[in-house]
Amino acid sequence: MKGLVYKSTGSWYSVKAESGTFYDCRIKGKFRMDGIKSTNPVAVGDHVDFDIEKKGDETVGVIKHIDERENYIIRKSVNLSKQTHIIAANIDVAFLLITLNNPPTFTTFIDRFLVTAEAYHIKAVLLFNKIDTYNEDELLEIKFLAALYRKIGYECIGISAITGKNIDKVKALMQDKVTMFSGHSGVGKSTLINALEPGLSLKTSNISEQHLQGQHTTTFAEMFDLSFGGQIIDTPGIKGFGVVEMDKEELGDYFPEFFELKENCKFNNCLHLEEPHCAVKEALENEEVAWSRYKSYLQILEGEEDHFRKDIYEK
Ligand code: GDP
Ligand code: ZN
Repeated sequence: MKGLVYKSTGSWYSVKAESGTFYDCRIKGKFRMDGIKSTNPVAVGDHVDFDIEKKGDETVGVIKHIDERENYIIRKSVNLSKQTHIIAANIDVAFLLITLNNPPTFTTFIDRFLVTAEAYHIKAVLLFNKIDTYNEDELLEIKFLAALYRKIGYECIGISAITGKNIDKVKALMQDKVTMFSGHSGVGKSTLINALEPGLSLKTSNISEQHLQGQHTTTFAEMFDLSFGGQIIDTPGIKGFGVVEMDKEELGDYFPEFFELKENCKFNNCLHLEEPHCAVKEALENEEVAWSRYKSYLQILEGEEDHFRKDIYEK
């Protein structure tokens, strides 16, 4: 039978068959996907083949095969084992909720999210929430930001989870898709999800940031059906989008506007720092590339060695 994994609790997986029935499944044997070794070979969002085995009165599913993943998000455990945990797979759209203040969302946070989405090959959409609360100046700032991100290819929608403004547009993007929501605590994730699907209360939004900081236990993602078609993935304990490991030369590829210019840089491994004839730096001077984006690029490049493969970083 074919099915979709809705929940994983370590060794058990809740799989929804095409018939709509849920089965508790286990895995048999070893699975190794994409060459990564993870604590959980099967993840929420995986499409699987499974068999039903009867043990007395009990029906148990056994997962035999995992379909190739379109994408997946991982996290490294914080303990010494540094094991990889696959949080979820086959995500169609990742939404980032943004507010100017209350709480503030800085462009560096937005850019980090976008870099990670690019690296994971997940479509990202920016939702500027609480537009019912902004004054004229703030609305101009939102307009400026939305124009900046639209120019480099990201869909941006100004919404209000309270008044319902443009919620239909978000719904249209979610229909028949697998989606997830990120953003700082307080940006309105649970209010929005409740506006989209009344009655659905996800843990994502209900865990306080403070609680998260002291959290060492693994929390498991879970998928929920939407009444208008599609699924939403709840990722409790996952703030933002995790960290992707990459080579330093790779980072610029995840800034789409840098990537487009890269072929005009003198050096094909240009890091867009102090190299001569760098097309990105030239575009920056001409204000074709936003300073805020370049600043984020530098911050990720210089600030966070966790993002980069150790051997490359130490060169
Ligand atoms: P979460 O932590 O991201 O889940 O944020 P919540 O959904 O709990 O929202 C935090 C606060 O912002 C609550 O008091 C909400 O009522 C409020 N809020 C959320 N969305 C909006 C909005 O679009 N407009 C206004 N005015 N308030 C909002
Ligand atoms: Zn360059």
